[in-house]
Amino acid sequence: MSHTSEPVVRYEQRGAVAIVTMNRPRYRNAQNSAMTYALDDAFTKATDDATVAVIVLAGSGDHFSAGHDIGTPERDVDQSFPRRAVMWWDHVDRAGGDSRYARESEVYLGMCRRWRDMPKPMIAMVQGACVAGGLMLAWTCDFIVASEDAFFADPVVRMGIPGVEYFAHPWVTNPRAAKELLFTGDPISASRAHALGMVNHVVPREHLDEKAMAVANRVATMPAFGLALAKRAVNLAEDAQGMRGGMDAVFGLHHLAHAHNAETSGDSLAGQDIDAMKSARRIIP
Ligand code: ZN
Repeated sequence: MSHTSEPVVRYEQRGAVAIVTMNRPRYRNAQNSAMTYALDDAFTKATDDATVAVIVLAGSGDHFSAGHDIGTPERDVDQSFPRRAVMWWDHVDRAGGDSRYARESEVYLGMCRRWRDMPKPMIAMVQGACVAGGLMLAWTCDFIVASEDAFFADPVVRMGIPGVEYFAHPWVTNPRAAKELLFTGDPISASRAHALGMVNHVVPREHLDEKAMAVANRVATMPAFGLALAKRAVNLAEDAQGMRGGMDAVFGLHHLAHAHNAETSGDSLAGQDIDAMKSARRIIP
């Protein structure tokens, strides 16, 4: 549901490339469940369409994604959606940790894993903010192409929570960089993210679209089944390096933190709102 008739996710195709664009620019593309399921619809459509070889995930406006919706008028945490990512009960009408665990297993961890394991390559095209839940979306993609103004941050330790639900930090950077990201909450620049191996290419903002499309079109010339198997091969290697089991373990810690916050302050996000999370914008060069 939206105030306007604009869809929360736009879908277009240019040649063999499907471009899926998050479309809540007023809210820096904050991700509510309506957007999550619209993204899932778009990725399903691209997967099923034999004329699509590669997917580009983009954000409209000045920012890729400010993260999960923790305070826009269309925040929809109390709504039911048909579950697709995990076999679990609906979170609505459940209480406390039972509700949070059900919801986040489906819309955060489960959905991100589902998207990461799509058989077609997906390239994130990132400008401006890529923060918290936004990192999760970019990390589910196979490549990240960023503009020079892009910045990446996971500030949720400020909420007393050990990182976002899709805990890929040590695997997409390295353990020390992951600790710095988490312990400071400070954003890192696109060039630093590139140096850490998290980002594939950094280009001036005016060339972002062109570069992402060039990479996508290059990949699109390869055989679809070969790409699907190559993607699976690398994902299996990451899982063999402990990513999947590590994420499951950390998801438990994440929910311990939510429960602790709820127990001690009555709010699972420890009273942190959008403005609090936007503060401290120092970018580590
Ligand atoms: Zn959470």
